[in-house]
Amino acid sequence: MYATVVIDIPDLSHQGFDYAIPKHLLSRVEPGVRVLVPLGSRTTEGFVLDLHSSTDVKQVRPIKEVLDLEPSFTTELIELGKWMSQYYTSHLFRTMQMLLPSALKTKIEQAISIGENEEEGQLSREELEIKHWVSENEPVKQSQLLKQFPDRSHLLKSLIKKEVLRLDKQIKNKATKKKINVVQLKMPSEQLLLEIASFPKKATKQRQILEYFLINQAEEMELAFLLATLKVTRSTVQTLIKKGYLQITEKEQGRDPYKDRHFHDKEVQLTAEQEGVLQQIIQSFQNGRKSPFLLHGVTGSGKTEIYLQVIEHHLEKGKDSIVLVPEISLTPQMVERFKGRFGSLVAVLHSRLSQGERLDEWRKIQRGEAKIVVGARSAIFAPFKDLGLIIIDEEHESSYKQEEHPKYHAREIALWRQNYHQATVILGSATPSMESYYEAIHQRYHLVELPNRVLGRALPTIHIVDMREELRKGNRSMFSHALQEKIEDRLDKKEQIVLFLNRRGYSTFVMCRSCGYVMKCPHCEISLTYHQTNHVLRCHYCGYAEHEPKNCPECGSSHIRYFGTGTQKVEEELARRFPGVRVIRMDVDTTSKKGSHEKLLTSFRKHEADILLGTQMIAKGLDFPKVTLVGVIAADTMLRLPDFRAAERTFQLLTQVGGRAGRHELAGDVVIQTYTPEHYSIQHASQHDFQSFFQQELKHREMMDYPPFRKLIAIQLSHPELSVVMKASERLVREMKALVSANVEVLGPVTAPISRIKDRYRFQCMIKYNDEPSIMIWIQQAIKHVNEALKDRQLLISIDVDPYVLM
Ligand code: ADP
Ligand code: ZN
Ligand code: ZN
Repeated sequence: MYATVVIDIPDLSHQGFDYAIPKHLLSRVEPGVRVLVPLGSRTTEGFVLDLHSSTDVKQVRPIKEVLDLEPSFTTELIELGKWMSQYYTSHLFRTMQMLLPSALKTKIEQAISIGENEEEGQLSREELEIKHWVSENEPVKQSQLLKQFPDRSHLLKSLIKKEVLRLDKQIKNKATKKKINVVQLKMPSEQLLLEIASFPKKATKQRQILEYFLINQAEEMELAFLLATLKVTRSTVQTLIKKGYLQITEKEQGRDPYKDRHFHDKEVQLTAEQEGVLQQIIQSFQNGRKSPFLLHGVTGSGKTEIYLQVIEHHLEKGKDSIVLVPEISLTPQMVERFKGRFGSLVAVLHSRLSQGERLDEWRKIQRGEAKIVVGARSAIFAPFKDLGLIIIDEEHESSYKQEEHPKYHAREIALWRQNYHQATVILGSATPSMESYYEAIHQRYHLVELPNRVLGRALPTIHIVDMREELRKGNRSMFSHALQEKIEDRLDKKEQIVLFLNRRGYSTFVMCRSCGYVMKCPHCEISLTYHQTNHVLRCHYCGYAEHEPKNCPECGSSHIRYFGTGTQKVEEELARRFPGVRVIRMDVDTTSKKGSHEKLLTSFRKHEADILLGTQMIAKGLDFPKVTLVGVIAADTMLRLPDFRAAERTFQLLTQVGGRAGRHELAGDVVIQTYTPEHYSIQHASQHDFQSFFQQELKHREMMDYPPFRKLIAIQLSHPELSVVMKASERLVREMKALVSANVEVLGPVTAPISRIKDRYRFQCMIKYNDEPSIMIWIQQAIKHVNEALKDRQLLISIDVDPYVLM
């Protein structure tokens, strides 16, 4: 027997090599398991794609080791991996690797110990033998056990399934089962970055540990995990503790507080409108309808309540459900709504979990213990075997698009899995994306609508304030008169206020007032951002950091200043204008610590502050009963971005922000301050008029040949030398124009909006097309020609299908 095994080699077209399966591994090699295989003189990890009985390869080498007891990939996920690597042109191995939780990438050997099930009556003699051997030697490595009982791997599997034995991600000491050692960073990462730069060259291990924290943006990590992953010793960690970079604490391993709770405990009576939508969805489930639903419901219309009941319906039929929520909205409050209803059947996946915690949640899904997963983008890959329902909440959110390879969009993956499983897909939003709504009006998606808030609650009144007018009247403050008056009014009434500041385009940069010099990153064509907390200037693209300068590096002047309306500045002005006001500021600076995000929100909920001031992260998902005023400090910063979705994003953001007001008994007001009050995205948002916005934006898109009328592919080229990247881009465009059919437009090359990152110059070109099955073949051919002609290993060419961020 032979197996096709895909491995990590730098060849885009690699679809797997054949390896022989040695006799003693026959029972354990199956599609989806991870294996170790020889490659040249080394051993490398690979994934088994399929098995076959003959091969054309002359000298087939044998598989060395099998790393899994249960396959890591279902057949479906193998298929999905193949499709993604084609559609998004990315390496098959790396694409598949991304479908797994990252802890599985670290090659930690799994350990086996005695499980919870103590019942021995049902076990065969052979099974009992295994159990007793484990209980004498536990914890044992999986490979050790298989050596002891070479032909009993199938029994091992069933013992684990029956919970007689337990599979752990790593060897744990029995006595300390409930306690774990956790290593924590003792300083903010910006400071650490500076410290690392001045580390002695020899201290590579120490540096490696600290960098690992930075790379993973982690505040704390399990000690055992750190030691095993980085192959460092305890004493290296001790040294870092002595030097004051790290500290160790013992932590209770958290138990699931919902474990014994029964669900169904607080189901609400649906409104007639909600009931209508629910029935349509359920009926189609019964009729086997296969087009996705687009649930267009205004903020506070009770979409989440519908999700819960549709999930319940699928659960009764034994089907699994995936719920995607934008990372930012995945608050404990949100999770609570699902866990409160479905208890421990819910697994949660988001980036704030440690690697170990993520793996635990993933295993719950793999073993079938969880039937529902609530998570951010990558939860779309949950390894369910009987998937019946996929819900994407806030489907218009750009965070569903991954910006690294493979550059997939969760919506595309959802549609693929829907097809595979004949599942139901619900895309929900108060402001559907242009693409989805376009599908709906052409009957390719099934549109269902909730035009009203629940229980007759009113949508907030939106006031637009022209800031140019304010300036003419002599008001130079960042608050208009209208906003000031309303803030005072709410403070008097002891109600709460949310103030929103769009961070993009408003980050604080440093400029010399004498000569106009702006501090830029020496490696990227972008200005450095000032962080007040530790007086550091930082590049948000490569992480470069330096201390704030006392004098201008260009002219020596000391009049060097921080510009831009950062949240800190707004906070200062609030304190000046409304003495005694209590403000909670939420931005990257105040929420970088694990758990701080939740702490601040809880505190606001308890009315320990009057004003919540923040960036994008407060625009969505939050639900505070006492908030009756929402202010947008400057609505149009986003409109100026070089992005064809700028108007759409502005409309969405304003609608979402406005949706935070008056969601409960108290009615709400929204004040939008802007320098372009006449812009249609601002006008229609203030009227809560999605339809008109959609129609107007659609005309614009059609005129400009943008999606949803044409599809886009962006190709980016980068190289340390400007002349090389220019030559390569021109060549690429020429090659493509020669290959593609007449309906395909090839645009560019042009300098990328950020012309240099990490010392590499960047160019891009754009392809516009409709229904061209060969488009990827043409592109790959053109790239191949360029690579063959230039033979330059420094040249990087990257493809982005349906791009979102054009930087
Ligand atoms: P959306 O997801 O559309 O923003 P939610 O589902 O969060 O709306 O509902 C908004 C608020 O209304 C929530 O506090 C929710 O508990 C409540 N709610 C939803 N449906 C009902 C209902 N049928 N009866 C009473 N309250 C409801
Ligand atoms: Zn200067
Ligand atoms: Zn940089």
